[in-house]
Amino acid sequence: MNWKRMVERIAGATVLMMAASFPARAQVASAAGPGIPANNSPVGDPPSIAREARGWLADLIKINTSNPPGNEQIAAMYIAGILAKDGIKADVLDLAPGRSAVVARLRSTAMAEPSKALLLVAHIDTVPVEKARWTVDPFGAVIKDGYLYGRGAIDDKGMLAANLAVFLELKRSRARLNRDVIFLATDDEETSGDASIRMLIAKHWEKFAAGFAINEGGNVFVKNGKVQYVGVQASEKVAMNVAVIARGTSGHASQPTKDNPVVHLAAAVAKIGNYSAPVHLTAIVRRYFEGLAPLEDDEIGKWMRSVDTSDRGEHAQRVISDASPLWNSMLRDTIAPTILTAGVANNVIPAEARANLNVRLLPGDSIDALVNELNKLTNDPQVKLEVQPNAGLAAPPSSLESDFYGVITKVVTQEFAGAPALPFQSTWLTDSAQLRLHNVQAYGLVPFPLTQDDLKRMHGNDERIPLTAFDKGVDVLLKIVKEFAVAR
Ligand SMILES: [Zn+2]
Repeated sequence: MNWKRMVERIAGATVLMMAASFPARAQVASAAGPGIPANNSPVGDPPSIAREARGWLADLIKINTSNPPGNEQIAAMYIAGILAKDGIKADVLDLAPGRSAVVARLRSTAMAEPSKALLLVAHIDTVPVEKARWTVDPFGAVIKDGYLYGRGAIDDKGMLAANLAVFLELKRSRARLNRDVIFLATDDEETSGDASIRMLIAKHWEKFAAGFAINEGGNVFVKNGKVQYVGVQASEKVAMNVAVIARGTSGHASQPTKDNPVVHLAAAVAKIGNYSAPVHLTAIVRRYFEGLAPLEDDEIGKWMRSVDTSDRGEHAQRVISDASPLWNSMLRDTIAPTILTAGVANNVIPAEARANLNVRLLPGDSIDALVNELNKLTNDPQVKLEVQPNAGLAAPPSSLESDFYGVITKVVTQEFAGAPALPFQSTWLTDSAQLRLHNVQAYGLVPFPLTQDDLKRMHGNDERIPLTAFDKGVDVLLKIVKEFAVAR
């Protein structure tokens, strides 16, 4: 999008002034390209709002919010501008230089009732790109073969644009709300850093306190050309990092020693990498496999039904874990060695060698217990394990009995030809953990029907969204929100 058009689009004097003086304008200007023109057809019918939302998604992709550094402020101003055009005053909340979140509210009553309110959440930042490995400009919002390509097309600018569409549709149709609906665009989600939702809650909770939320985290899974099931995320694993530190005596590489830390680290990492933590079935994962069993082929379905039995359980768990890294990670704590650091020169034995372990704990499991287990496994006095700062916090799961969960499952089953909604415990983290820790019944559902091939591109190369899937997702999300928040 060119800069002039952006400024034209950003209505409201304050926003305009802030945008015009914004230092990173060159970044936006350089992202110019053939955008998708906003549609001017009459408001009110979902397909038209979806067409308009395609344009916002394309524009958001063109504003590079790769994190680090994020630079979400420009996109936050863009969003505030879209809302301002429809007379909605949004708060752009600055959390760090160049880093902002956006909050806006549609009121149901003069007095807010936070415990009833519904929060529409999406994050503005994206993971970075390996530009050389893309076949298109990752910030060009290129349309090819029915797909819109770009970093964030799915994660999470697609949902951001869909939330914006639903929110504006409620406003334009003058929907009679039975609860406040709050739009929240967060920043710094991908690194959970100092400008993330943790800080936003600490500083501005009263602006978006809610009883219910819908966010990313779950997906509409397409297999063999149709929706197989809809995974509604109600819980998530807890991410943390553990350093493996091997120490020894440094010296001349011409005279190898037994205490070379590189050798001790390598042995420890090999043992840890081959370790499989015990299975621990949470209530949500148990229900997930129960629901998935009839949808899978007979063989794997049979083992899914046996996963919690005393006689066949252990074998079933092995078969399921071997069949899918996702299922394996849903069943147990996992540990992935991700970084090795050692050595200063080819001919020097270093005094220290380090590895990073990225650990994903099941909610409720203890990192101390796992580290104890790994210490026993490595059994090497030269090797120490240290839990790193900024460890994630376990959140209680969202209820599978809430009215909102009921509405989500009902609407998606209607909308996706009877495909069931299954409770889902994501192996990845989202902003919802922080919301759940503040008593929000938060559910994860990226509403676009996507294949494994599309989903794999998230955080990878050539991320893209089928435009028809985007339109469908906007429509489904609108139906969910209307069913829950609009008085009949
Ligand atoms: Zn995301």
